[in-house]
Amino acid sequence: RHFRDMKFPQPLLDYLKTKGIERPSPIQIQGLPVALSGRDMIGIAFTGSGKTLAFSLPLIMLALEDEAKLPLIAGEGPIGMILCPSRELAKQTYEGLCAMSNVLVQGGYPELRSLLCIGGIDMREQFQTLNRGVHMVVATPGRLQDMLEKKKFNLDLCKYFCLDEADRMVDMGFEEDLRNIVSYFNHQRQTVLYSATMPKKIQEFARTALVQPVIVNV
Ligand code: AMP
Repeated sequence: RHFRDMKFPQPLLDYLKTKGIERPSPIQIQGLPVALSGRDMIGIAFTGSGKTLAFSLPLIMLALEDEAKLPLIAGEGPIGMILCPSRELAKQTYEGLCAMSNVLVQGGYPELRSLLCIGGIDMREQFQTLNRGVHMVVATPGRLQDMLEKKKFNLDLCKYFCLDEADRMVDMGFEEDLRNIVSYFNHQRQTVLYSATMPKKIQEFARTALVQPVIVNV
């Protein structure tokens, strides 16, 4: 199998190729079609499996599709959100989204804006992004709840919610925070949950937050 046989924009394929990414990994082969179809899913995968692309590419595709239909205006968004257990992981995921957005713009596609929503950073620059309308948010639970509580943005347009390393978030004591974040959604959305393990607490959370998820275990 080859990425070029999947229907991704050419600038993205070229970008992946420059990173030596030409053949999808097992989690990508199985997870991408599910996430792209709009279904809820649980991906059981470790770091190094290629899971970040497996949940980032569907978000990029959704944001591109939405932007083509109805561009975001000032203050609107996000269309999708990725929640991570640590600042470091959030930053890496955010940088990946920014890199893909950049190559798309260079290839003539609409600009997709991302917001990094983590503790310990100056939010002033981030607020400028928010003010222009933001397609994608990458967040850690603490700062995200703070921003939602203060109504810096809302989830009215958010159709895609990904939890990365859900087991680590639960291990760090974020279980209640996850439930609180989900409560900010006033509507059904696609939920994608990635976890290396599936302890009882995650299974219980998934039962309440996901709808008939497809389980991808590679
Ligand atoms: P992840 O599991 O998402 O943390 O990805 C681990 C590393 O593998 C990252 O540096 C990716 O750039 C790289 N990677 C992801 N997918 C592929 C692929 N299909 N082929 C080669 N490398 C990949």
